[in-house]
Amino acid sequence: MSENTEILLEVENLQKFFGDRHVLNGISLQVKRGEVTVILGPSGCGKSTLLRCLNGLEPVQGGTIHYLGQNLTGEHVNWREIRQHIGMVFQNYELFPHMTVIENILLGPLKAQKRDSKEALQQAETLLDRVGLLARKNDYPRQLSGGQKQRIAIVRALCMNPDIILFDEVTASLDPEMVREVLDVILGLANQGMTMLIVTHEMGFARSVGDRIVFMDQGKICEIADPEQFFTEPATERAQQFLNIFE
Ligand code: ADP
Ligand code: MG
Repeated sequence: MSENTEILLEVENLQKFFGDRHVLNGISLQVKRGEVTVILGPSGCGKSTLLRCLNGLEPVQGGTIHYLGQNLTGEHVNWREIRQHIGMVFQNYELFPHMTVIENILLGPLKAQKRDSKEALQQAETLLDRVGLLARKNDYPRQLSGGQKQRIAIVRALCMNPDIILFDEVTASLDPEMVREVLDVILGLANQGMTMLIVTHEMGFARSVGDRIVFMDQGKICEIADPEQFFTEPATERAQQFLNIFE
């Protein structure tokens, strides 16, 4: 990654409370275009909350988030607009159950982005084909497996042509045999240069997809490291303890 690569996201000293609970305590992080950042850490350390803050789903109580220089923590931020550039994929897919696959995918491009319907449909079909699900475009989510639903959710995010996609434990609800088909789609995106922030508990995947690892504990970043370095010789005792669980 060259030194002068464009900074897409810049988080500085982010503070988040739920009541008295200090859930994010001074998170600072830069995300450059084309970079894959994997966020690791024990359950409850604040990984989901961090991603949700970056998608405007949680208000923050201090610090700043800038997207291409624009302050997202100021007043009057149009998150509907920002979410067209910063997409998110959730553990539980969040597909609309009463809409078909293609309707789910085209909702954003047609309603939010007001794109030409032929052009959007063409892109949607190309993306569906790429994940092997073009034949399922008129199915409803209930007719699909978890792995298929998650691949549709990824296509839905991609069809907005976002700058960044946030993935929050997108394989955590899947049966083991479906995990691979979803991880392979994300690996493909990494190879195409998509900028991504990925929260996962799949350590082999984290090591192969990540340009760097961000390890969090108790609302703080403990270390940011190259994956090889992190998995062979983490800098902190806390990270070593965390990795021991997966041995
Ligand atoms: P992770 O994704 O790393 O498992 P989370 O970001 O989900 O962690 O949660 C961080 C902490 O914030 C946890 O202690 C969790 O219980 C708490 N928390 C998360 N969401 C809420 C909420 N909506 N209200 C109150 N506490 C919450
Ligand atoms: Mg979580």
